[in-house]
Amino acid sequence: MLNRRKLIKHLSSLPLLGGIAGSSIPLTSALATPKAKRDVVKELGIRTFINAAGTYTAMTASLMPEEVMETIQAASHEFMMLEEVQDKVGERIAKLVHSEAAMVTAGCWSAMVLGMAGVLTGTDPKKVAQLPHLEYTGMKSQVLVQKAHNTGYVHALTNTGVMITEIETLEEAEKAINERTALLWFLNYNAPLGKIQHQEWVALGKKHNIPTMIDMAADVPPVENLWKYNDMGFDLVCVSGGKAMRGPQSTGLLMGKKDLIAAARLNGPPRGGNIGRGMKVNKEEILGMYVALERYINLDHAKEWKEWETRIAQIESAVKKVNGIQTEKYVPPVANHTPALRISWNESSIKLSPKDLQEKLRNGNPSIEVVGPEKDATSVSLTVFMLKPGQDKIVAKRLAEEFSKATIS
Ligand SMILES: *Cc1c(COP(=O)(O)O)cnc(C)c1O
Repeated sequence: MLNRRKLIKHLSSLPLLGGIAGSSIPLTSALATPKAKRDVVKELGIRTFINAAGTYTAMTASLMPEEVMETIQAASHEFMMLEEVQDKVGERIAKLVHSEAAMVTAGCWSAMVLGMAGVLTGTDPKKVAQLPHLEYTGMKSQVLVQKAHNTGYVHALTNTGVMITEIETLEEAEKAINERTALLWFLNYNAPLGKIQHQEWVALGKKHNIPTMIDMAADVPPVENLWKYNDMGFDLVCVSGGKAMRGPQSTGLLMGKKDLIAAARLNGPPRGGNIGRGMKVNKEEILGMYVALERYINLDHAKEWKEWETRIAQIESAVKKVNGIQTEKYVPPVANHTPALRISWNESSIKLSPKDLQEKLRNGNPSIEVVGPEKDATSVSLTVFMLKPGQDKIVAKRLAEEFSKATIS
């Protein structure tokens, strides 16, 4: 017996299709059977879930809106010069975010690597080829970081060969600056913990003629942050494209001074022989990111916020019906700055550990992800900005169910 694929192959090898039209093979029906649309996710048994946690990288961060997917689809049908895509998109993005220039990178992390590399190499191709080796090259090698900002994210910078010097106060910074100081790096997320604030950091850079860079990966909303730090005078601003902006997860933006963006681009694709060659972003993603950014800026942000508050209220009122449940609404000050809900209880009245609750929600139908407990707390937290319309009701119902079941009567 010929299976469908073999049949088609067999037919196409015949000189004239009509030659077998009169044969006993039911030709038209064999070829016209509408193919069921393939569902690869289901085929591979990959778990999908309601995301009441947030834009976590491990949870694939965000879902791309229709406009972004349409852009990706449309772009996939034609060849283009990668450089031209980056040129044209960069120009538009720069206007939207008030920077001299911009480029789409393979995430905020990649924006930091390429931005750092550009600071070190300038537009000297010899230096580009020398990275990550800095000794005897004439390149600078030190980056100043406040102690409170010195997290794992600095590894994006040290990828280029630079060393981090930790400081706490402006006086310490002044003392640490020397002729090898390449960059002053600022982690927006930890700004409240640091002793030196944004403007002072920028002023320090200007005073010593050293570029400043800010990592604000997860720090929209508010939307204004997209231009706030460019307006403030940071030379390089890095943000994730695939978090709240809902661009492709593998994209980010590097915004900043024209010469630095040009230098950053020399350190990445389509060129080889540089440290950034592996940080490729395809034309679909570059264009998709542009459309995601435009869409994000044009959203009715007040309306979005109201919708999130309504969802939080819905979930809060459902779980509060269970005796012994306490709730607390909060908004993180920086990063994932959206309405969130902390739900806590006492295990003497509700016999359920936060880990157990997480497992029950995860293994339920539909599967739901929430944020795990803070250390030593009997609580879980959730956000609602990654929910699809209507999912807040499901989350509310499932939480109330599990709490009720575990209530000791
Ligand atoms: C998410 C994040 C990054 C990395 O961003 P990607 O877009 O995933 O590369 C860097 N810094 C901070 C503070 C982040 O939250």
